[in-house]
Amino acid sequence: MAERMLKFVGTPQAMPDKRPAAERRRDFDEIYQSYAQQKAAEQASRCSQCGVPFCQIHCPLHNNIPDWLKLTAEGRLDEAYELSSATNNFPEICGRICPQDRLCEGNCVIEKGFESVTIGSVEKYITDTAWQRGWVKPIQPRRERTECVGIVGAGPAGLAAAEQLRRKGYQVAIYDRYDRVGGLLIYGIPNFKLEKEIVQRREKLLRDSKVTFHLNCEVGRDVKLEELRARHGAVLIATGVYKARDIAAPGVGLAGIAPALDYLTASNRQGLGDTVPDFESGLLNAAGKDVVVIGGGDTAMDCVRTAVRQGAKSVKCLYRRDRANMPGSQREVKHAEEEGVEFVWLAAPQAFLGKDKVSHVRTVRIHLGMPDASGRQTPQEIPNSHVNIEADLVLMALGFDPEDLPAAMGAPDLGVTGWNTLKIDWKSMMTSLDGVFAAGDIVRGASLVVWAVRDGRDAAERIHTYLAGKALAAQRIAAE
Ligand code: SF4
Repeated sequence: MAERMLKFVGTPQAMPDKRPAAERRRDFDEIYQSYAQQKAAEQASRCSQCGVPFCQIHCPLHNNIPDWLKLTAEGRLDEAYELSSATNNFPEICGRICPQDRLCEGNCVIEKGFESVTIGSVEKYITDTAWQRGWVKPIQPRRERTECVGIVGAGPAGLAAAEQLRRKGYQVAIYDRYDRVGGLLIYGIPNFKLEKEIVQRREKLLRDSKVTFHLNCEVGRDVKLEELRARHGAVLIATGVYKARDIAAPGVGLAGIAPALDYLTASNRQGLGDTVPDFESGLLNAAGKDVVVIGGGDTAMDCVRTAVRQGAKSVKCLYRRDRANMPGSQREVKHAEEEGVEFVWLAAPQAFLGKDKVSHVRTVRIHLGMPDASGRQTPQEIPNSHVNIEADLVLMALGFDPEDLPAAMGAPDLGVTGWNTLKIDWKSMMTSLDGVFAAGDIVRGASLVVWAVRDGRDAAERIHTYLAGKALAAQRIAAE
């Protein structure tokens, strides 16, 4: 092992080649090229094979990173794929969109003194290679079970749960209110981070694995939750959280101010070839506009970089804390800066100015004061520090809250927490309704895709325990 690994001293970190910013600004294609096999093996060989691998500990899926890096370094890619896909349903998606600088790579021990192993890029390389070489196959369970599970939500938590349940032989039906599979993976995340074909080939794989999809089907509108409970042995709610957070500021209702997800969905739909009236009318199109995005998370980064590609005149990102304290990935900020986005740190919107349509955002400078109970420094306004920033289009990327699911689903007995997330028993992952489980953002609150995958996998295990217990009880009764 020693010969092939531990190369971090002599081999510098090298990410796959990134396309020049001037070229990236003109299209929505992914920005990184793929590694060639030799490069992937060389980068994987930088790993020091830690006895206590902090990369793995800090991965929500506890991916067996050191072992699949070693297999990649040895050219045993089929085994690397097998190992990587054993803990993660969508490694090529996580390899593309996880904020590795906050998770595995940010905690890689060789980061101290050297630069971390490029874990995400190697992960993407392994699984893209597996797809190219035909190693990713539809699921053929060893035995089929008669029990059927209904999953509400075709986002990452629902899809991961579906795959895990199908592996155990359950029949699986997924219901989603949108017309395509993927949830935020298809309508929220832009192509330059995750090309749509990557999600669509996963959908095809699930269809080929005999998972059935009921699209344009909203629970509470098109089908009752009670009907789903009667139709399926268990139901998993994995709807995600979609309600955009707002701010109370004068002028917030002016035309030209839109929620980030509406804007991203319009752009993604347009890229998919849909007719999008709000894009065509210019309402949700940044072309030729001065764009201001409010927020410092990954959704804000997706908005600013989309606006650049749509041909905005200028793009600014307004965030009330500083670069070090922003929730989004630092790597994303760097990409955005390279592409011409201007970050206005320590600034908060106070009012939106304009007659019928927004023309300026009135901002106030912020000073970071003493830490609050959460440990984060409190933003404090600096008196008389106003600046008006020109804006034709303002995008609010302030986070997401859960919708009122008990009302929307016509299920008043579905218990919720004080935050309106679904209340579950954390051991069984069951909601207040027998046989109804919940997972992902609708339980956790808005979070990362990798956490949704983890929650979906955990829920599949709990549903299996529940259904197996029910089957056993039925057998005992029959034997009596
Ligand atoms: Fe390898 Fe870094 Fe993980 Fe250690 S922390 S096992 S060096 S990738």
